[in-house]
Amino acid sequence: MTIQNNVSLAPYSTMGLGGRAAYLADVQTRMDILEALTWAQTHNLPAILIGGGSNIIWQDSGFPGLVLINHIQRFEVFEEDDVNVYLTIGGGEGWDSVVERSVAAGLTGIEALSLIPGTAGAVPIQNVGAYGQDISQTLVSIEAFDAQAKDFVIVPATDCNFGYRTSRFKTTDRNRFFISAITLHLTKGMPEPPFYPEVADYFAEHSITQPKPADLRQAVVAIRSSKLPDPQIVKNCGSFFANPTVPIGQVVQIQADQDMLVPNWPAANNMVKVSAAWLIERAGFKNIHDSASGMATWPQQPLVFVNEHAQTTADLLSFKQKVVDAVQKKFGIRLVQEPELIPENLAM
Ligand code: NAP
Repeated sequence: MTIQNNVSLAPYSTMGLGGRAAYLADVQTRMDILEALTWAQTHNLPAILIGGGSNIIWQDSGFPGLVLINHIQRFEVFEEDDVNVYLTIGGGEGWDSVVERSVAAGLTGIEALSLIPGTAGAVPIQNVGAYGQDISQTLVSIEAFDAQAKDFVIVPATDCNFGYRTSRFKTTDRNRFFISAITLHLTKGMPEPPFYPEVADYFAEHSITQPKPADLRQAVVAIRSSKLPDPQIVKNCGSFFANPTVPIGQVVQIQADQDMLVPNWPAANNMVKVSAAWLIERAGFKNIHDSASGMATWPQQPLVFVNEHAQTTADLLSFKQKVVDAVQKKFGIRLVQEPELIPENLAM
């Protein structure tokens, strides 16, 4: 394993911004993680493990320690019967390729998570979900180096504190676990209805009455491709905010005050989910190109911020603040950023 020094971090975020890492190394195996963390500890440096950089915004000040890039490859069926398949996947596997391979094997459970950028190891961190599936529904456990226990551990899904787009890995135990592999429980069945309206429309248009996992994947790929930019071509980090969950009374009040219907869906505890994209659009940020910051909102999906010619993370954050303030002023809802700003509260 080679440890490089003074490396620009911009290529390690799909937003293409940020300062420099003091040190950076690729990890191919679990043992590389151990070796790298031992090196960082010896040099009294913080360390962080990242995947594809699709959910990371680097600070302009850079990272004053060791950045590890997860390239751990593995795709192994370790148990199987007529219905169930248990798969262990290396944390550095490209997530969409994992979905593609599981669908090609006729498995259901993660096909609605098609085309989500990033690596498999990053998926549990924010309990990635889309179109009715999220990883907490199929995750059995994660394998990780635990910086507290100073050893590799298995964390069962029941101990991950999963919530809506969150887990202990992004809250109470941020930077503690270096995820080397995940184990999923998929099945040989068919995807379960009900389907989200956009997916149901796709099936109706294509006369698909009994969708197989491959049909659901194809529907999600078509929907996502039609409204989201490819991070390989356009610099972006996907949705910049989580869809907010608010008390139902707040939505009723907004509808009365603004004299407009706010699209919302039921969530737990008398709360409702509101579309962040809709809030941003109604706050005046549909297809906006902000010359001051060099940032823009994607024409088909204003929840996606695009780096057109921003030079610094400060530029991006100033644009973000404009959007947050406008939504807060119009609707009284505070949007919460989804991509992680790093560094923040380093643990090691
Ligand atoms: P969208 O489909 O416009 O939906 C906006 C909001 O409405 C979301 O909160 C979504 O819930 C909810 N919703 C829509 N139809 C629903 C239904 N039939 N039943 C229950 N809730 C419904 O959202 P989008 O921004 O274009 O994103 C598409 C999908 O990708 C969504 O599922 C979204 O959550 C997901 N996504 C996930 C991440 C992530 O994991 N970090 C990032 C971006 C987008 P849900 O959020 O529960 O789906």
